[in-house]
Amino acid sequence: MNILILGGGGREHALAWAVLQNPKCDRLIVAPGNAGIARIADCASLDVENGADVVEFVEGNAIDFVIVGPEAPLAAGVADRLRDAGVAVFGPSQAAARLEASKGFTKEICDAAGAPTAGYARFAEAEPAKAYIRAQGAPIVVKADGLAAGKGVIVAMDVDTALAAIDDMFGGEFGAAGAEVVIEEFMEGEEASFFVLCDGETVLPIGTAQDHKRVGEGDTGPNTGGMGAYSPAPVMTEEVTQKALEQIVRPTMAEMVKRGTPYQGVLYVGLMIKDGQPRLVEYNVRFGDPECQVLMMRLGAQAMDLMHAAAEGRLSDMRVNWAEDHAMTVVLAAKGYPGAYQKGTEIRGLDGLPETSEEICFHAGTVEKDGRILANGGRVLNVTARGATLQQARDRAYAMAGAIDWPEGFYRRDIGWRALGES
Ligand code: ATP
Repeated sequence: MNILILGGGGREHALAWAVLQNPKCDRLIVAPGNAGIARIADCASLDVENGADVVEFVEGNAIDFVIVGPEAPLAAGVADRLRDAGVAVFGPSQAAARLEASKGFTKEICDAAGAPTAGYARFAEAEPAKAYIRAQGAPIVVKADGLAAGKGVIVAMDVDTALAAIDDMFGGEFGAAGAEVVIEEFMEGEEASFFVLCDGETVLPIGTAQDHKRVGEGDTGPNTGGMGAYSPAPVMTEEVTQKALEQIVRPTMAEMVKRGTPYQGVLYVGLMIKDGQPRLVEYNVRFGDPECQVLMMRLGAQAMDLMHAAAEGRLSDMRVNWAEDHAMTVVLAAKGYPGAYQKGTEIRGLDGLPETSEEICFHAGTVEKDGRILANGGRVLNVTARGATLQQARDRAYAMAGAIDWPEGFYRRDIGWRALGES
């Protein structure tokens, strides 16, 4: 099978790595890819948000199966264009991708499906939104309705912060994404991510994870795209997982079918768990980054068969072969991230790193220039490892991080602290 993966971050390096372990893969192209991906697959430059360009590329390169990594091509309808052209594609339609692209839409679906989530109200104007905040009091959560690259959510611990967030959103800080806001009840608890595949009908759980969003150790400092993750998430016990599946995921998927927009792809279910009861925080319509790295490390070659079955509506025939293992990924970022940081600094020591089914350094934001690997983004590398215990996975991941010579980079040294019972 000839496969095309759209995207070029650590998530797509992990997807490429898993796909290449499957003997059914004859040829793999990743667009645009990055320096790490280029070492294992062909990379192509392509406007991945332009459906017509992607279809033309697929037809010109005899591609049999397309895996869409990030949300932007999905929200732009690229999966629809591919499906219209008769190409097997892993990723939801534009209509189903609204589960991520519009927070108000997700709330509406939760209401219709009876899925437990935070109480909320939607507003298209500032004054009624402010009146609502004053009436509710703090803590309270203000969200721009649309895609804002993880920055459109303000968890306000006091009313003034929430009111200022309303001014920012209606003042255009988030562009069209902030034309409508969702104001939510603040939920307490422990967060975890639950990943399921769906082929429109059948839902198949493929793992749980927890990530660390804050830049600093002890989960302090500003929010980032994620500084590390591990799988499985201890808080996702069998009982909590079943509740999430039966009370949240299945009713949501059934509601999507009822509306004529069945969901196909991976659904990232962000949960808040308190006293054994999960409530929905958010849906994402693609794998998380860096959660994908730990899921791929645990699933290995079967990931491609599962994704292909989801694309072809064959998930009811599939089973996941679970191993009793744990995985962890630690993000190496450029100093300054998530604020201003330098690009183009050289990273040494990568060639000496292990590259096995249990240890690998995925590239997130790198380029190769004259044989040297240079940092080309905020989050740059993801050292990822698997082990019989989380501690073993962690030791392996940190051994790799320690062997990388990159003075302009940094990483958190406490990924997994909660799961390992540290404080
Ligand atoms: P991302 O995709 O980067 O995770 P996002 O912009 O889609 O973020 P959400 O996941 O909805 O936004 O919110 C981001 C974070 O804010 C959550 O991971 C959670 O920590 C916090 N949060 C969101 N909603 C609530 C809530 N109702 N109560 C408490 N915390 C919340």
